[in-house]
Amino acid sequence: MTVFAVGGTTVARVEETYGPTYRASELFPEWNEGILAAHAHWLAPNHYDAASGLIKLSVHSWLLQIGKRKILIDSCCGNHKVKPGRPFWNMLDLPYLERLAVAGARPQDIDLVMCTHLHHDHVGWNTQLRDGRWVPTFPNARYVFSKPDFEYYRERDASAEHGPVEFGTFRECVLPVVEAGRAELVTAPHRLDENIEIMPAVGHSAGHVVFKLESRGHRAVFIGDVFHHLLQVYYPHWNFPKNSDPEQARISRRTVLGDCASTGALVLPCHVGAPFAGHIDAMDGGFRPRFG
Ligand SMILES: [Zn+2]
Repeated sequence: MTVFAVGGTTVARVEETYGPTYRASELFPEWNEGILAAHAHWLAPNHYDAASGLIKLSVHSWLLQIGKRKILIDSCCGNHKVKPGRPFWNMLDLPYLERLAVAGARPQDIDLVMCTHLHHDHVGWNTQLRDGRWVPTFPNARYVFSKPDFEYYRERDASAEHGPVEFGTFRECVLPVVEAGRAELVTAPHRLDENIEIMPAVGHSAGHVVFKLESRGHRAVFIGDVFHHLLQVYYPHWNFPKNSDPEQARISRRTVLGDCASTGALVLPCHVGAPFAGHIDAMDGGFRPRFG
């Protein structure tokens, strides 16, 4: 179990999957042998599988505990979901809720679920199938969604051209939460409470946000998918293939990297491999990760 302390809070990683996924050149068109040679000393084994040439990605949630409050940040893919073209996330049957319990929370203990954005791999455990209906997994939780992301996907999901969006997960994992009256739609920037501020970081999705945590003078940022891989810290113009606005995604990445470098915040991404969280240094006119 990976646990970080941030001031008076703790942040535990709850793993869903972690392993080789896409070919490096398929994810990043800028990838080449020179890049591999320059970064080989840290890429394998945590961030790249040298034998297969596949990029390693993690899918995990962060369980944030502030005093007695338990907050789940991003809820992964979920079990039993069809994900065409993503064999490593298709029809999962994993003990995610058992791992969450080991990290310190049963479903009924979660006070707040917060999604950085509404892509399929960030909303999966929001709901569970019960008696043929999708119902909130965390019965006592309030769910915080970005309003611009919600509205973007609601419109596309209802259109004959694009719906159902995100492999159906908008209908299965987002709308039932709203219909159950458990969703809070917020427009960033938005201060949630004395510890957490929600800031816009759009581009990967239309309403993507990051969650800034501050406790006793210590800072952390849950950055969602502002970057998926540490190579994007070295090369902030490298985009993951799926973005609502690729150029804006680059701008947001540089902004968040600059912000994390200047504040010294602990950076908690959703897909970066072990040790899963770390810091950003500004140097040589760019950025360097200091993870582990
Ligand atoms: Zn993601």
